[in-house]
Parts: sequence; structure tokens; C-alpha cells
Amino acid sequence: MPDQPPAFRAHPFDDDKLREECGVFGVLGAADAANFVALGLHALQHRGQEAGGIVTYDPDQGFNSARRFGYVRDSFTSPDVMQTLPGSLAIGHVRYSTSGSKGPSQIRDVQPFFGEFSMGGAAIAHNGNITNAVALRRELIERGSIFQSSSDTECIIHLMARSLQKGIPERMEDALRRVEGAFSIVAMTRTKLIGVRDPLGVRPLVLGRVGDGWVLSSETCALDIIGADFVREIDPGEMVVITQKGVESLRPFRPARPRFCIFEHVYFSRPDSMIGGRSVYETRRQIGVELAREAPVEADLVCPVPDSGTPAAIGYSQESGIPFAMGIVRNQYMGRTFIEPTEQIRNMGVRLKLNVNRALIRGKRVILVDDSVVRGTTSRKIKEMVLDAGAAEVHFRIASPPTAWPCFYGVDTPQREKLLAASMSEEEMRRHLAVDSLRFISLDGLYRAVGEAAGRNDAAPQYCDACFSGEYPVEPSDMIEQGFAMKAAE
Ligand code: SF4
Repeated sequence: MPDQPPAFRAHPFDDDKLREECGVFGVLGAADAANFVALGLHALQHRGQEAGGIVTYDPDQGFNSARRFGYVRDSFTSPDVMQTLPGSLAIGHVRYSTSGSKGPSQIRDVQPFFGEFSMGGAAIAHNGNITNAVALRRELIERGSIFQSSSDTECIIHLMARSLQKGIPERMEDALRRVEGAFSIVAMTRTKLIGVRDPLGVRPLVLGRVGDGWVLSSETCALDIIGADFVREIDPGEMVVITQKGVESLRPFRPARPRFCIFEHVYFSRPDSMIGGRSVYETRRQIGVELAREAPVEADLVCPVPDSGTPAAIGYSQESGIPFAMGIVRNQYMGRTFIEPTEQIRNMGVRLKLNVNRALIRGKRVILVDDSVVRGTTSRKIKEMVLDAGAAEVHFRIASPPTAWPCFYGVDTPQREKLLAASMSEEEMRRHLAVDSLRFISLDGLYRAVGEAAGRNDAAPQYCDACFSGEYPVEPSDMIEQGFAMKAAE
């Protein structure tokens, strides 16, 4: 594989979604750990398709690494690559660009990052986004650090290098106390696998067991693929240091009220993962149930916008009694990225990826269930396709509240001006999309669906929901410095 990024271009369909930007995975105590890591990353590919990397340690051959653009399956199945990654300790990362270079990426921005310290080397893979990275980088450069990448994660390596602590885990603690924002980290030394979650636990991280070895993963679905057993979630604010002797749990940060990303339930995590003991699929189905209660409408069919709208559409159908149908079919063989389309093909847009099942739709009043509306461009095109196929009415039901604010915690969001809900009311969006009705689940309804029976606690929200509410649990200080206007206090 080349060291240059291929001409990847987000398909227009995917460009109108929020995008999770990283997945992390690590294994200690399993022969040829890199093979497990490659499989784990493959199961986490939905969290980042642009590039991936694996670092391993072997007592005879030291640290080795491979970083590649493209899908995990395209590089990390090749014997030529995997033979260069020996050892029973390995970590890996898949990415879409978070901070670091947007647009054409550089291989130097692909994680895991590696640092050589006087007490040995360490590699680090990060899911999330550091909200004070610009300020930290400025300070570190002024003090002599030489950065190799444009990634926020590299700040952690430089902060570790400047720490006066003796051990690598202690240096990492020191470094992370200076870091603000969201981080779920998997790191390794020559003998240790380390996992850390930020004090609010914004992004997920779970612990598993495979044979006599240990696993850290962004999601439980990646434990399943290697036959690992789920042990527990890493707690918000917890650091685990894992050796052959077992798992040591540390609490290096000041305690805080957890604020897990509620959008993981709606869209980012895979439906076959478990979060907080709940099935992601079941939560999404329950969102559909809540949506049917909050926003009923007379219609003939409930159709998901595939694939992510499917569980909520099933829930809506079950609660409303309106039949469920696959009125829109996704072309499974169109990848999530589309390489250099011609202008003619680009103009076909959503039709390349989705097709309407005319025989089902013609003459019907159709409820379309989607997970979110971001820019609204895709929703408009889908509506046109469904009307072209002869639908009598089109009603949109959305399984998340209006996305009116950008995320600064490891999710790629358009600038606020590009978010449809930032400048339009629900009725204005309905008119803009030209549909018969448009309803979003309420924030309280979403909280009920994720298991908070009393809904959102406005005085102390149980989750991060900043992209809906504009209430940021960690001040995005770099963005404020660059002119981002926070929501005015009510
Ligand atoms: S702002 Fe939205 S997407 Fe970002 S962490 Fe919070 S809930 Fe998740």
C-alpha cells in the first residue's frame, strides 16, 4: 500500500451524517496479538474508514508498527504486513480525521503514535478530541517540543516527555491531567497495556478477556469477533494498567459527573454492541417507540432510511401498528467512500447508494424514519426519490433531536452555519424539505429511550447532548479562541 492517501471522497450520502472519528483496540497476552487487533479494528471500521495503524512489541524484535490508508481488510490481512508485526502485545487505531489534517491526510497523522522515553518506548491510540490542544501545542512548541504530526493526540506524547515521573503510566497520568476534552485511550509499553477514559467518560472503552489475555476495545462488537468475553466498561476517569499479573485500576482525575455521548446510542455505535448493559439495537428500537408516541401520523407504511434508521423504524411500526416495509433499499456494494467519481456520477448522488422499492411505495402514505438530519441535503433527495416513485404523502420521523450545534469531542460535524437546525425551526425545516410532516424525537424522549425513565435532568444532564442542547460539558476553549460563540445563558 502506498504511503500517500488515496483519493478518498466521502460519498454525498455519508457527507450528510455526523461521523465518529476513531476506534481503538488493544490486546495483551495472546500469541500474534496483531491478528486479533486487525480483526478488532475491522469490527470497528464504522468508527473510521480513512486509515488504520497497529503497533506491536516483541521481546526479541522490539516495537514494530504499520500504518496504512484505507480499510483494515485491504492492508492488515496481507501476510507481508502482518509478518512485520510480531508479539503478544499490540494496539491499533482506525481513524477518520479528528483534529489533525482535514482533507488529504498525511501518513504521519495516522495513529498509534510512538514515543521513546528514557525508561522505554510507549505507543498511544486515542478516540476523542482534546479541546485545549491548540493552547497546549503552542505552549509545548514555545518550550522546545518538535511536533511530527498535526494531531491533537501528539500533545500527550510531548507532555509525557516533559513529565518528571519515573514510570510511563505515571507520566501518562501527569500528561492527561493537563488535557481537556474527550479521550478514550489505549496505550502500551513493553510489558503493559493501558486504558484510560476522560473524567466524563464521553467516548466508550470496554475491557475483555481472551484466553489468558486481556483486551481493550471501543465497543463490545469488536470483542465478539475475536471470541473475547466482555468483562466490564472502563469507568469514566479510570485508568487501567494491565500486565500478565492482572488489571490494576487507578483514579488519576478529580471525580466528575459522567457525561457519556448520547449520540453513541443513536448512531455511532454498532447495533450489536452493548453500552451500559443495554443493547444498542434495543435502545434504537425504543427510540422508535417513543417517536411513535410523541409524533403519531396516519400512514400506510413505515420505512427506514437504511441502514441506521432501521431499528427505530421497527420500533415506530410496532408501537403505531403501521406496517414496516423496506421501501428504500441500500446498495450494499457501494462502499462508504467513493473514489474520484466523475461529475456525471456525482450528480446521481444518493441514487447510487439508495433505491426506492417502487412496487411498495406507489400510492402509499409513507413514514420515513432516519437517525438524524444534519445539513438536510440527503433528506431532500430521499424525499424526491420517494415522491418520484409515486408516494402519496411523505412524513419524516427523526430518531434524534435537531442537531443544532457542532461536536468538539471526536465527531466530525459541519460548521454551525451548515447545520439545518441551527437556523431553522422544525416547521421551517419541514417547508425546506417540502414534506407533509417532519418530527424529531424530543430530548426527553431520547433520554427515556436510553433508560432514563424521568427524562433529562436539566439541572444535571446525565449525558453529553451538546449537539442538540448547545450545553457543552467541557468548554471548547480552542474553538472559543477561534471565534466560536457558545449558546447564551438562558
Ligand atoms: S456533542 Fe453530540 S456527538 Fe458530540 S459527544 Fe456530545 S452528544 Fe456526542
